[in-house]
Amino acid sequence: MRSLVFAALGVVLAASASAQTAPPPPVAAAPGDVLRNVERLREAALNDDHGYDIVQDLVTQIGPRIAGSEAEARARDWAVAMLRANRFSNVRVEPFTIQSWAWTRQEARIVSPSQQRLVIAALGGSPSTPPGGVEAEIVRFPDLDSLRAAPDAAVRGRIVFIDEHMTRTQDGSGYGSAVVKRSRCAPTAQAKGAVACLIRSVGTDTHRFAHQGSGPRQPDGASLPTASLSPADANTLTTLLQRGPVRVHMELETVMRENAPSGNVIAEVRGRERPDEVVLLAAHLDSWDLGQGAIDNGAGVAIITGAARLINAMPRHPRRTIRLLLAGSEEIGGKGGDAYGAAHRAEHHVVAAESDFGADRIYAFRTRFAPEALPYARAIQRSLAPLGINLGNNEADGGTDIGAVKTNGVPIVDLEQDGTRYFDYHHTADDTLAAIDPEQLRQNIAAYAVFAYLVADSDWDFAPRTAAAPATVH
Ligand code: ZN
Ligand code: ZN
Repeated sequence: MRSLVFAALGVVLAASASAQTAPPPPVAAAPGDVLRNVERLREAALNDDHGYDIVQDLVTQIGPRIAGSEAEARARDWAVAMLRANRFSNVRVEPFTIQSWAWTRQEARIVSPSQQRLVIAALGGSPSTPPGGVEAEIVRFPDLDSLRAAPDAAVRGRIVFIDEHMTRTQDGSGYGSAVVKRSRCAPTAQAKGAVACLIRSVGTDTHRFAHQGSGPRQPDGASLPTASLSPADANTLTTLLQRGPVRVHMELETVMRENAPSGNVIAEVRGRERPDEVVLLAAHLDSWDLGQGAIDNGAGVAIITGAARLINAMPRHPRRTIRLLLAGSEEIGGKGGDAYGAAHRAEHHVVAAESDFGADRIYAFRTRFAPEALPYARAIQRSLAPLGINLGNNEADGGTDIGAVKTNGVPIVDLEQDGTRYFDYHHTADDTLAAIDPEQLRQNIAAYAVFAYLVADSDWDFAPRTAAAPATVH
């Protein structure tokens, strides 16, 4: 708590310093009774552990829940029961089907010059190796571009190993470039005659956990077995390769299934005056299956549900509707967000936000608003400032679950979380409840509650229809 107060003071000092060189920016005004409710919500969230109970219940009662699986179906049932128990309105499942993927065997070992096990994870969409596995010499590339530039003769008949490291950053920006090899190793190596792909895990840790994730998809024409390698084992391979040739045996067994059931779970805090105007809060229910899916994305489920639950319990609901989207099949194909965007395209979404970056503290509020709506951004940030949240730029990214609504032209915001340690855990066996700090989780819930209430109890429009927006919708 103390650190939050000091952080907020820092915001005020920074604002007054910049005021010497430029006039203070215009800030929209919210009515006094709304601001008093915002204060009460913020304090209630900071003193309430119900959000933690939600993620604890999900990861212990359901556990890992890969898209299209029976466990993901149980997670939907769990969510419906939990949301009804918290008296949300219009709780329902919107089903769809997917091409599911699962692994049943993922093993690799160095066979020469020494004999030792490698910790790997098959990447989503990867086919199986031939029965009995593949065994071949390793050819190492420091990054994807050097694989692209390599002559076919250097690759043919070998297992390609891309050893590219990921940069640790607070905003997670190192992920974007590092993750490309996860999907592009297979088609690039296959075209040059390789027999399999191994990539250094897309992560920032040095542990002997492999990071799962979506990889080659057969519909894209890639058919090369692909796995990620734990960072520690990537180091071992690299060290051995400096001394001479290394042979590896690798065996993957995977299963793909057409028309596997998935679905989105929806719930609402019904608006008292403008129920058809929707403030959308999204997170995803599915996960990978080596860990528990606690930070990815049980935390997001807890953050948006915990925030909306506090608002739902208020004696008077805000004027607009707050809708929760607990998306299915985010990890495999982003299908839940696509299905939601297609089914709800005609509705009036005021704004959309997604929580899918763990549970560490929010430090910035970013928007993607029309320029004339920026006074509202400043007004929202002013109510977030006591939580230590600064105003970010107007280039919010959103996320996969709100990708389709963003494409539909809906304004979005990012409540930007500290991602410094996120990729130490992301998609690994170590993504368990222990990775969540309850105090930082409460700060997230407070921020979402403040943001959602303030917007839902206003008539603010973040996308005034002045630009030729329809031309860019596709
Ligand atoms: Zn993920
Ligand atoms: Zn996620």
